[in-house]
Amino acid sequence: MITLYDIHTHHKHSEHKAIISVLPSQYIPIQDVYYSIGIHPWNSDNYQKDDIDLLQQYIQHHNVVAVGETGIDRKRGACIEQQVILLEKHIALSEQFKKPLILHVVHGIDIILNMHNKYKPSQQWIIHGYRGNPITTRQLLNKNIQLSFNHKFNIESVKITPIEKLWIESDENPELLEENYRKIALIKNLSVDELKLSTQLRAEKLFFQS
Ligand SMILES: [Zn+2]
Repeated sequence: MITLYDIHTHHKHSEHKAIISVLPSQYIPIQDVYYSIGIHPWNSDNYQKDDIDLLQQYIQHHNVVAVGETGIDRKRGACIEQQVILLEKHIALSEQFKKPLILHVVHGIDIILNMHNKYKPSQQWIIHGYRGNPITTRQLLNKNIQLSFNHKFNIESVKITPIEKLWIESDENPELLEENYRKIALIKNLSVDELKLSTQLRAEKLFFQS
């Protein structure tokens, strides 16, 4: 059987090979469980200095395979200036420790594109829960920013995202992971197994090879 990969979930006990997104203060590593650690934009107005220190320390753990989720949310959290400063910290850590960056973006694609131009990161950036339209999708793909889809997405955007730049996640809905694979496979004209295998190979290479 092909292992199912979930590159972004908040569910602490996934039955799949998952990347569990946690805040630094929530990080209690379990053997053979993988995490991404970051200060969510929603927490950008209430995190402590301790959280940054913990983040920096935990990022270095073997179980931590990505930085984030971090990002920009114009509907929640601190003012944009503060969110940008926090995002820049995550970008720096991602580059320093050579781990991909997982992004949460709500009405902030312009900032993400600007940041990518400014920092020219060597690490892969992935926007999770991506729902943008095809115009935005092309801009991101041109920058080699990858996209992760859950159960809500723009079909045309999925169509134009090459399989090598596409990920599947469950986010807050672990029970929908299989269904998300089925939906995306159908749109991409692939068998579910082809999509699972492609995701497995790419995930092992990007996150788990060390
Ligand atoms: Zn999330």
